[in-house]
Amino acid sequence: MPKPFASSADTAAKEQTLEVLADGVYALTAEGDPNIGAVEGEDFVVCFEALATPVAAARWLAVLREHTDKPVRYLVLSHYHAVRVLGASAFDAETIVAHEATRALIAERGKEDWESEFARMPRLAEAADSVPGLTWPTLTFADRLTIDLGGDRGELVLQFHGRGHTEGDITLWLPRHRILFAGDLVEAQAALYTGDAFHRDWAGPTLDAVAGLRADQLVGGRGGVSRGRGEVDAAIAQTRGFLQAMLREVGGVRRRGGTLKEAFEATHAALVDDYGRWPIFEHCLPFDVSRLWDELGGVERPVVWTAARDREVWAQLQD
Ligand SMILES: [Zn+2]
Repeated sequence: MPKPFASSADTAAKEQTLEVLADGVYALTAEGDPNIGAVEGEDFVVCFEALATPVAAARWLAVLREHTDKPVRYLVLSHYHAVRVLGASAFDAETIVAHEATRALIAERGKEDWESEFARMPRLAEAADSVPGLTWPTLTFADRLTIDLGGDRGELVLQFHGRGHTEGDITLWLPRHRILFAGDLVEAQAALYTGDAFHRDWAGPTLDAVAGLRADQLVGGRGGVSRGRGEVDAAIAQTRGFLQAMLREVGGVRRRGGTLKEAFEATHAALVDDYGRWPIFEHCLPFDVSRLWDELGGVERPVVWTAARDREVWAQLQD
């Protein structure tokens, strides 16, 4: 029997949990669905990630509002993916911050990504009609942006560490608390989506830079909060291990003149024991291997995913 396309058969609601990581620092995790966060400044809030639709985002904001009623001055987008940005209008944020490459990617492929992602994971696209259009960052930067939280709350640092999950991922770092919101650069017990990735950069210098922050708590893109250096290191190691196994398997099949289908099967076999039970593993792997196949073949930037191309790759590899 063919496997259902991507996450189209994943319809069971996930439980959302708000965790207070430090005074005024919040994470909402959801059993493997996209995580989000918020940091209180003296008289404003910085939110990190926007979920897939305004209706989904409004539900998160209602939970956050049990803790703080300060207005959202900054909404930070870690990268351009639709399920993380299209809920932005619910925040009524003064400023929407992203990396400059993220803004360019939204212009180049935001519409296609929207259609692709909502078809891949319809459960997240709750009340899809409530999305008013693409989300446009109003403040972008290249390397680093610092926000003074006011009072004696210290500063919040947004940083680009190199190409990784996309061309423009940024992290949110709280030096005083050593808390890192890593976006999809790190996953904790969830499979990686690498369909728009730069695997060699990500597995090497980019993750080195993330690890170099030596966070005490880490909120990845999906999965639970990693608490303590041991769990933080484990999440980073798991992310790197997934990428390295992909590079080894896809690279091996390429070098011996094999096919994309063979590369998929070898990668699946190499990863399924350690990662197969984790969220979105089967969903992601065809897109992941397809992108890495291109990358190792010299295709510099990821080919744009469209709803039609998604179905073609799925039929070729996963059926
Ligand atoms: Zn993503």
